[in-house]
Amino acid sequence: MIGRRPAFPAVLLLAAACAHTPPVSTPAGFEILQSGGDDEAARQVARVLPGALERVGRWGTVAPPMVVRIQPSGEALAAAVGRPGETGLLGWARRGSVDIQSPRAWSRGRPTDEEFGALLAHELTHCLLFQRIGRAWAQRDVPGWFEEGMACFTAGERHPSADASALLPGPGTHPFDTELAYGTADRAFRYLLARHGDAAIRSLLDGLAAGRGFPAAFLEVTGTRVEDFEESLRAHLGTETAGTF
Ligand SMILES: [Zn+2]
Repeated sequence: MIGRRPAFPAVLLLAAACAHTPPVSTPAGFEILQSGGDDEAARQVARVLPGALERVGRWGTVAPPMVVRIQPSGEALAAAVGRPGETGLLGWARRGSVDIQSPRAWSRGRPTDEEFGALLAHELTHCLLFQRIGRAWAQRDVPGWFEEGMACFTAGERHPSADASALLPGPGTHPFDTELAYGTADRAFRYLLARHGDAAIRSLLDGLAAGRGFPAAFLEVTGTRVEDFEESLRAHLGTETAGTF
């Protein structure tokens, strides 16, 4: 994708910490970058990063080197990830990096550590998935509901609504109603997890890492074709009431 990327001086967190704030160590192999004047955001990333990695660790280990770039605004983030105009983005994941909107720029107000940690856990879950897929991650055939549902679930997000019509059809899909789409993806992933358990998700990732496409890995692990699972999921979403999971 083509996007204007702001210049990032290599500002290391430890070098940016001032005398009044004890430096916070960063997990090995992680680098936190900011474009200047955002030391508090860098400290917040360092503070919440271990907890976020622990959540993602349920499925595997995010392999360093990793870079977390703090973008000063929604505009800067959208430009950096090649999606100009999508200024509502809070985070964006690639295989070896996460771009996030600075907490001081969030339109809903500065996030707590819990909220910010959830964002990082969400994006790092994507990183893990992309890393397991390997070099072909940009051409992945992972259903949108799996990709976003896995991230929403791992981050501990709660989305109130879900509807079968909002199942994300493909990777990188950008829905009109984000809240509904994420809620539906979250519910879909929970449904998969309830039926097959954690080990199946890890085996599925192993299948992707072994070079199998998502449909083949999914069938191997669950004994069900993706389209059959989605059909039963649609029926389930149509009948469930809030609080089923
Ligand atoms: Zn996501």
